[in-house]
Amino acid sequence: MLRYDSSGKPFIIIRDQDQKERLTGSEARKANILAAMTVANLMKTSIGPLGMDKILVDQDGEVTATNDGATILKNMQVENPIAKLLVELSQGQDDEIGDGTTSVVVFAGALLEESLSLLEKGIHPSKISEGYEKACDIAVQHLISICDKIEFDKEDCSSLIKAAKTSLGSKIVNQYTDKIAKISVEAVLAVADLERKDVRFDLIKLEGKTGGTLGQTELIDGIIIPKNFSHPQMPKQIKNAKIAILTCPFEPPKPKTGHKLDIDSVKKYKELLEIEQNYFKKMTDLVKKSGATVVLCQWGFDDEANHLLLQKELPAVRWVSGTDIELIAIATGARIVPRFSELTPKKLGKAGMVTEKSLGTTDEKMIVIEKCSNTKTVTILVKGGNKMVVEEGKRSIHDALCVTRNLIKDNRIVYGGGAVEISCSVALNKASKEIKGIEQYSIRAFSQALLSVPIALASNSGLNSLEAVSEIQLKQMKEEKPFFGIDCLSKGTSNMKEQNVFDTLRGKIQQFLLATQMAKMILKIDDIIRPTGQY
Ligand code: ADP
Repeated sequence: MLRYDSSGKPFIIIRDQDQKERLTGSEARKANILAAMTVANLMKTSIGPLGMDKILVDQDGEVTATNDGATILKNMQVENPIAKLLVELSQGQDDEIGDGTTSVVVFAGALLEESLSLLEKGIHPSKISEGYEKACDIAVQHLISICDKIEFDKEDCSSLIKAAKTSLGSKIVNQYTDKIAKISVEAVLAVADLERKDVRFDLIKLEGKTGGTLGQTELIDGIIIPKNFSHPQMPKQIKNAKIAILTCPFEPPKPKTGHKLDIDSVKKYKELLEIEQNYFKKMTDLVKKSGATVVLCQWGFDDEANHLLLQKELPAVRWVSGTDIELIAIATGARIVPRFSELTPKKLGKAGMVTEKSLGTTDEKMIVIEKCSNTKTVTILVKGGNKMVVEEGKRSIHDALCVTRNLIKDNRIVYGGGAVEISCSVALNKASKEIKGIEQYSIRAFSQALLSVPIALASNSGLNSLEAVSEIQLKQMKEEKPFFGIDCLSKGTSNMKEQNVFDTLRGKIQQFLLATQMAKMILKIDDIIRPTGQY
């Protein structure tokens, strides 16, 4: 609304103003911290090998059961802006590292929780942030000083398998960790260049299939497309296949705007039919002439085209997804062809074998493209009793693949089960004694927050969490060894080196950095403006 004041100057009244709620200063900060703690507390029960799963139901009623931090947060549909930041935090860890997505949120929540008492002491948020930054530096330096290296090569990858097993230990597949860890490592090694420490992650395809159990998951040397040949009488196996990849439909061109066509005689109808058939014929002729022996089409085609393809002995697959098309093109060296007229022998991809087979326990068929000529590509076929299990299986394997990739890029590790957090916490406590001024409070708070992960691990394993953690703290200090952690699975030893429980150094550093950044960011906010009634 435009109004004029007494001197005639115009001003605007925004109608929404009275519908806004505003929190400022310490009140805003407290509300934010509480929101972050709520999300972190929710994630605590999911951490570790005995962590609980969560069931998430989306707007369409689709059910997801998972204990993967990033997935839980992504599907939570939170309204609160701070909770949304934590969702992004977990996503950031997932994109960069792929593992540690639950721990990062729990740790960020703990940092904020600890900051509450610092704020009450009257320490300014920017001072707390500075202290956290310093503490994070010290913790990262300490991580680097206590890390170990694991050695492996293409022949002996047992240490990689152990690392993958740690990652899988807390997931749905934990009954089959031996087999699935081996598959994950083999898949990564198949597409890795160990000298350049490079892993072509995009060449690993994760395909799911309902039927059977997760233990029947298998590694296939090639690409699987969850489709079958377009006609049941087409050959089921093609050796030394030459593959045409088409992104144009097998049909006559359609007018783009509305047209009226009068067909008022049998003659005209026959003419039209003939034109249409000629189109199909020309298209199949062009494909045949190029020398293709298999056709993969991004679009569908009708019975007429299908029949012609069968006649010309051209086994074809329709409705192949865009991502599959790209992967097959890379693997077989094929060019993706957008027009029939552009199809030439040079644009065909080569594969040793293309087979249609049923890989599951059901009759459903799949196309397997093996011995691709260009690059090595592998598919992990994840099987499970139902869709929910298959999807969670895929997520777990994705984490194991990420851990293996991270180790190939950087083979330094730190010990898990909370060992590394306890060790850093002890180091920070020591460091805080040598620091004068208010920074020491933040450093001590950071040290305390680090214990949130081991405490959650212990509590999820049914232990008296504070007692278990302080016992390990004492042990680490007495023996000056950083590898004692929480014996979550009651194996009888807290030596994580013996238990082979470790996490990648890269992943842990990233967790510390991201959580610290997030805590600093939330502490800096001192004003919340939102429509009334929203949280
Ligand atoms: P995230 O999503 O953060 O990776 P997880 O639920 O996968 O969360 O749990 C990871 C934590 O569990 C890590 O701190 C790891 O060291 C610990 N962990 C995994 N397996 C074991 C085990 N067998 N014994 C003790 N701790 C374990």
